[in-house]
Amino acid sequence: MSKPRIATLWLDGCSGCHMSLLDMDERIIALAGKIELVYGPLVDIKEFPEGVDVAVVEGAVSSVEDEHKIRIVRERSKFLIALGDCAVTANVPGMRNYYTCEAVLDRAYYENATIQAQTPNVGIPALLPKALPLHEFVKVDLFVPGCPPQADAIYYVLSELVEGRIPDLAGKTRFGI
Ligand code: SF4
Repeated sequence: MSKPRIATLWLDGCSGCHMSLLDMDERIIALAGKIELVYGPLVDIKEFPEGVDVAVVEGAVSSVEDEHKIRIVRERSKFLIALGDCAVTANVPGMRNYYTCEAVLDRAYYENATIQAQTPNVGIPALLPKALPLHEFVKVDLFVPGCPPQADAIYYVLSELVEGRIPDLAGKTRFGI
């Protein structure tokens, strides 16, 4: 039987959820023998591949590029996991939702700038009006809250999926730290 093809993606998040994934420590080695990691920050593949079994996505959808990516991920993945509070609720990126994009950019690049006040505009994807959780754009199959989710919970989720079971997260996760 072929190994499940797993991909991870980092949208508008701080990387803390991926750090928590690495916090599985030596359990990663056992897990690595049962899966094929086909995309993610740890894999040098530029394009999200076709035929992914499980996509694990950190971060909110905050830019036109994020939206483009999450729609491709959904098209190409059988099972999509929203990993962490930013993916589940927008969390920290969503703090800007009380303000316009213009006000946010002014604050970051002019009001708080001591030198070279300017808005970067080359190669920078445009912000969406609000930073939103994944399920506002695509169907999500499993929500794993936490900021970040604990490594134990991530290991449990992946282990169950590898064995062909849908994880029951009742009592195993919580929002926030
Ligand atoms: S949920 Fe927390 S740890 Fe994860 S990307 Fe968001 S801020 Fe970082």
